[in-house]
Amino acid sequence: QITIRKEKWVTDEFEMLEFLGRGKFGEVKRCKEKATGRLLAAKFVSIIKEQERKDVYNEIEIMKSLQHPRLIQLYDVYENPSKKQMCLILELINGGELFERVIDDNFILTERLCELYILQICEGLNFMHKSNILHLDLKPENILCLSKDGHRLKIIDFGLARRFNPAQALKVLFGTPEFVAPEVVSYDKIGYGTDMWSVGVICYVLLSGLSPFMGDNDCETYNNITRAEFDFDDESFVDISDEAKDFINKLLVKDLNKRMLASQSLNHPWLNKSITPTAQPLPDDKIINTKNLRRFVIRRRWQKAVNALLALKRLGLNF
Ligand code: ATP
Repeated sequence: QITIRKEKWVTDEFEMLEFLGRGKFGEVKRCKEKATGRLLAAKFVSIIKEQERKDVYNEIEIMKSLQHPRLIQLYDVYENPSKKQMCLILELINGGELFERVIDDNFILTERLCELYILQICEGLNFMHKSNILHLDLKPENILCLSKDGHRLKIIDFGLARRFNPAQALKVLFGTPEFVAPEVVSYDKIGYGTDMWSVGVICYVLLSGLSPFMGDNDCETYNNITRAEFDFDDESFVDISDEAKDFINKLLVKDLNKRMLASQSLNHPWLNKSITPTAQPLPDDKIINTKNLRRFVIRRRWQKAVNALLALKRLGLNF
């Protein structure tokens, strides 16, 4: 049970260490619990509007109810006396973003590893969906590696997550253009399949480095998503298995109700087998050329830098 700590501020109990990342509302830093020496992550959130406080409380409430090895865990929450800042103490995830890791010069990406990564994302989502929660912001930046050497992943950032009652219509108008589903673009009813669409996009990008619906601007991207047309014609897909393509075909389906669910994805032949990562690729492993993926990651880094500037602007810091 997590209660919001108001009697002390986070720095009374934690030593702040290096910068880990920047979110919309503040920085994330590595930190050390003074009493135990335990290393964790501190996510600072600056609150300007009352709605933002409600959003953070929503994120906290959702994280508290999600305890699963594939989902980031929340340990403690502090609110400072002026109530203008909150700090979430999270499990520390040391391996950085999945996509940054797989484009590293020394990393050999294979289809088998992609299976292992997508399997873990689907396991995390299956748990969320069984708990009646939608993530609604699944994108590569929100998939982190637990450590620099293993292959275990964690889904982070429940800032847009919502409780979902299938009996009640839920509509949203947010998300990251490249990864949002057609029903978000058209502001129609959303559901569990809305997250599964994003898994389909992440999977397509991971295997090919190509973004299936990306246009020259957001408007074009939204049009492409609405048409829900994509193909595997690019040469990057030549060595990709039919099972992988079938998996994507069952996710990038325009009709939300016909999309594969997380529980079904775990039973799909692409994932429903023993997937053991090996130190070196096996002779029959399909090695994926990450040239396109590098370009994709660099483009997303730029987007992230622009978002970070917009976030600073929101806090009144202009350049
Ligand atoms: P966004 O703008 O992506 O919605 P946000 O405000 O919700 O961001 P997060 O995505 O939670 O913030 O965190 C921002 C960045 O900080 C992440 O992309 C990641 O690089 C880093 N980060 C967040 N949580 C952790 C953690 N527990 N351990 C290590 N790094 C983390």
